[in-house]
Amino acid sequence: MRMSGPESFLIADRVFRGTERPSLCQTHTIHHGHIIDPRTGDQVDEVLLSVFKAPRTYTREDLIEFSGHGGIVPGGMILEALICSGARLAEPGEFTKRAFVSGRIDLLQAEAVGELIRARTDACARAALRQLNGRCSQQIEECRIKLIQVIAFIEVTLDFSEEGIHEMEPATFVDQLHPLQEMLDQLIKSSEKTRVLRDGLRVALLGKPNVGKSSLLNLLISRDRAIVHPESGTTRDTIEESANIGGVPVTFVDTAGIRLTSDLVEQQGVERSRRELEQADIPVVVFDASQLPDEDDRRLVSLLSRREQLFILNKSDLNTYNAASYSELTIGGRCVKTSATIGTGLEELLKEIIKIAQYDPGRFESGLVINARQGELLNQAKGCLDRGINVIVEGLGAEIAAIDLRECVRTLDVLVGKDIGDAVLDHVFSRFCIGK
Ligand code: GDP
Repeated sequence: MRMSGPESFLIADRVFRGTERPSLCQTHTIHHGHIIDPRTGDQVDEVLLSVFKAPRTYTREDLIEFSGHGGIVPGGMILEALICSGARLAEPGEFTKRAFVSGRIDLLQAEAVGELIRARTDACARAALRQLNGRCSQQIEECRIKLIQVIAFIEVTLDFSEEGIHEMEPATFVDQLHPLQEMLDQLIKSSEKTRVLRDGLRVALLGKPNVGKSSLLNLLISRDRAIVHPESGTTRDTIEESANIGGVPVTFVDTAGIRLTSDLVEQQGVERSRRELEQADIPVVVFDASQLPDEDDRRLVSLLSRREQLFILNKSDLNTYNAASYSELTIGGRCVKTSATIGTGLEELLKEIIKIAQYDPGRFESGLVINARQGELLNQAKGCLDRGINVIVEGLGAEIAAIDLRECVRTLDVLVGKDIGDAVLDHVFSRFCIGK
């Protein structure tokens, strides 16, 4: 349990009994003792107390951490003891928000804490950590400083033009601004590349009942969650399972088959399949290629028309298997031959999914996790910079370009949280959990 703020030591003195009073302890030390309910004097738990005095703390405020035995009841009793001694419950992300407000970290780093906690794979966690360590913030700051220097130069030449300070040549301006353009471009590209790392991919397995969707899902996630049944229409609900594929959290969704049906329960499942089709990043259509394609198969393919198509021709172990009979139906799409019974074709399937998602696990090693807010602001900043450069190239004058460059600086300020309203802050931190 963590407590931060100017009264932390006062409150800790009221509830902690050990060899020393917390307020007298040296900073960055750990002490053994007990938490006492101040109302009754009863012992609540045996704890270790970690003492952090401002300013070298997570929040830059006085901060105390209690390590108890855990468990909901003792944990709740410690909380109660603290609250009736003057503390209050933290809001979601409040500790990180205080670290931001006190200036220890910028908003990009604060958001990286949230990404780190939410990370579903180690690759995502590493990217969040790079951001928390200030990689992105440093680049933005370099860009800001350079822009401010250019703007200052423009202003000087305007103010002192009669005193022999001449305007920069357009080519010199562009030389100075071009690297900044590239830097912003790189960050935007990095955000596009790592979107799947943060949000993961949703792969929906679609197809008629009994073609082998559940069997394939079981193989993909190497567990037996979906019910495999030789009777048609057994998977009536969608089943989701996540797997870590090359550092990307991939959620596979097994859907009830899309086909005309009179069974009401199954109809609802069919409706969900349609929704899944809309929501999935990658819809994969599974065929039983031991049988000839029929109307249901054709209808399903027609629903896919606008998307990149991936088809699985399953049951390759059977004698009647005939992939060629599906060639017309799958024309223009990628096809993978599998046998869920023998377990062949899975590697190829994963490779195709990786290709469609256009992600290469290796390139995440330098990526950052840029969220939607940051991505939008980076794009805006890049837009301002592009406009400023164009104005100069077209010879419309540096003082006009300066308007765009100033706007670019303002946008970068919002990005790192220098100039930001309470509503945006509340939104950013509301996505955190309590205690972070
Ligand atoms: P779903 O309705 O599409 O989810 O299909 P299931 O995974 O429940 O499979 C239906 C039936 O087909 C089951 O009896 C499976 O054992 C069988 N099956 C699935 N894949 C294969 C395969 O590749 N080869 C063979 N021979 N049978 C399969």
